[in-house]
Amino acid sequence: MAETNKNTFPYLSLWIVDESKAQPECLALNDKVLRWDNPCWENNLPLCERIECQCHVTQMTELMVKQKGLKVVDK
Ligand SMILES: [Zn+2]
Repeated sequence: MAETNKNTFPYLSLWIVDESKAQPECLALNDKVLRWDNPCWENNLPLCERIECQCHVTQMTELMVKQKGLKVVDK
């Protein structure tokens, strides 16, 4: 990830389109917000890329996290 992105969007959150088709490792991260440098992402980025899973990673700013009332977790 580019240095600018890390600074502007320090948080990543995983979004799953269809939970019934998602892989377990993606489900574990669903609805969670973790810092970009969390080891969890090393195992999951690039994300499974399985078409049937359809998970997406959203980059978030600290403000976005606050506005959505999300909690940043460690794992
Ligand atoms: Zn996935």
